[in-house]
Amino acid sequence: MTDNIALANLLLPNIDKTPEYYENLYPARNLPEGARVVRVAPSPTGYLHLGTLFAALVNRITATSSGGVFFTRIEDTDKKREIEGGIENIIDGLNRFGITIDEGFFSGTNQRGHYGPYQQSLRAEIYQTYVKDLIIKGYAYPCFCTAEELEAVRKIQESQKIRTGYHGKWAKHRDITFEEAKALIDEGKPFVIRLKSPGNEENKVIFEDGIKGKIEMPENDEDFVLLKSDGIPTYHFAHAIDDHLMHTTHVMRGDEWISSVPKHIQLFKLLGFKLPKFAHISPIMKLDNGAKRKISKRKDPEAAVHFFAEQGYPSENVIEYLMTIAASDFEDWRRCNPTASYKDFKFNLKKMSVSGALFDEVKLLDVSKNRICLLSSEQVYDYVTAWAQEFDKEFYEILVKNPEYTKAVFAIDRDVPKPRKDIAKWNEVKDYFSFMFNELYLPCFELPENIDMADALAFLESYKAVYNAADDKQEWFNKIKAIAPTLGFAAETKEYKQNPDAYKGSAGDLSTVLRLAITGRRNTPDLCSIMQVLGRDEVIKRIDNVLRG
Ligand code: GLU
Repeated sequence: MTDNIALANLLLPNIDKTPEYYENLYPARNLPEGARVVRVAPSPTGYLHLGTLFAALVNRITATSSGGVFFTRIEDTDKKREIEGGIENIIDGLNRFGITIDEGFFSGTNQRGHYGPYQQSLRAEIYQTYVKDLIIKGYAYPCFCTAEELEAVRKIQESQKIRTGYHGKWAKHRDITFEEAKALIDEGKPFVIRLKSPGNEENKVIFEDGIKGKIEMPENDEDFVLLKSDGIPTYHFAHAIDDHLMHTTHVMRGDEWISSVPKHIQLFKLLGFKLPKFAHISPIMKLDNGAKRKISKRKDPEAAVHFFAEQGYPSENVIEYLMTIAASDFEDWRRCNPTASYKDFKFNLKKMSVSGALFDEVKLLDVSKNRICLLSSEQVYDYVTAWAQEFDKEFYEILVKNPEYTKAVFAIDRDVPKPRKDIAKWNEVKDYFSFMFNELYLPCFELPENIDMADALAFLESYKAVYNAADDKQEWFNKIKAIAPTLGFAAETKEYKQNPDAYKGSAGDLSTVLRLAITGRRNTPDLCSIMQVLGRDEVIKRIDNVLRG
């Protein structure tokens, strides 16, 4: 023991606190029974990835459903991979998707909460204090092996078909004495601190994963690194210390960490920490030529959540979609609660996919359409202008020129009992309504084969004479029906169907002529409403343009 204390002081001379200090500094949280404390712990190495957003959402709703706490922690121990603005990218991204953050980093530069700092690079002294304690207890030691030495060992292990790694007899410095360590340090040799693993590969660790169920794995016997030579911890060690001191009850993270759980269980035990519950989230998958694979940052644009913003998916619709893949019972709940916030949904980890949910853009479009159709024209106006301001300046200028007019456009087939479900994302709006804006409108008068040009023009002449901008839908169609027989068309579709040879077509065909003259398209939302919003002058102008050829 005295030797261990001497070794600990030799290795970490500047550390004068003990774990008790931090245990007192970060007392248990005062939360009701059953409240879950969860977190998302991104590394600031790039943009916000769909997987991180998904993990954040699952953690957020777990906290909300249990009356608990959701915090963010920045895992920036790998300074080489960090990018400038990395924290902002991720936290602003979460904010943009409405993921509320109770504690930790809530903006790119600000953090709050009693369990901080919530940035690992600012916690070096805390980690070192606990490592020092482990050295004193004989559970950790310095290792002076160089990268070349470790590589040489690995080669020997491979050639002998032995499991690679720093374990058992391969753990060269496991029994290093104080004197040996001191001599090497005096020589200026760099060192890492490794765990002195008491594990045995023959033994099994069994744990209950909150998503995947019971898992059995060999015990860890690897003397893995706790502190790197620069005094910064590895993920494993930082995870144990942080989640203990921040009183995380449920560690819910990507399932790439599942194979490390034996290491983590061992660490928590040796440190004397209560084990949190683990739940490993399967990655979001994609179908690629019929085969399921993980969504990839390299191959798939939707891996970066910026993709959704750019396309103009309302962020809450992306969340709505992610909820459908997070919980197999969400859609049933949504059917019964069509207008409730997803935050009211009682989330149960057991309803998560074990093998990895499939990202399905068609489904996302569908979910998004079903949500967008519930919005009012005012809301759509706000959304579309905000989107266009960022991603389509030309369209933005057109939209804001006359807000009242634009809102009237968006009200077409919207502020009605059964709104149309045509729009799934804001980048579709420009094309969808291009005929409502002269700057975008491209006339096109290509008649369907069954309609003769002479009849079409004659119809437009007659219609122009009776058109009244104040006509309601009924009146509007009555006028078309009244003209139909004068040109040899049936006023009622039924009549035409019963006796097709007696007519050139029906009033429906004539309304297509009018639609083409006014919008340049065969399919549009309600034409009467379109004409009302365009106004008399524009309607007459467009009809005249066709008549004049
Ligand atoms: N920084 C780790 C990662 O990004 C966090 C894993 C965890 O949630 O513990 O994968």
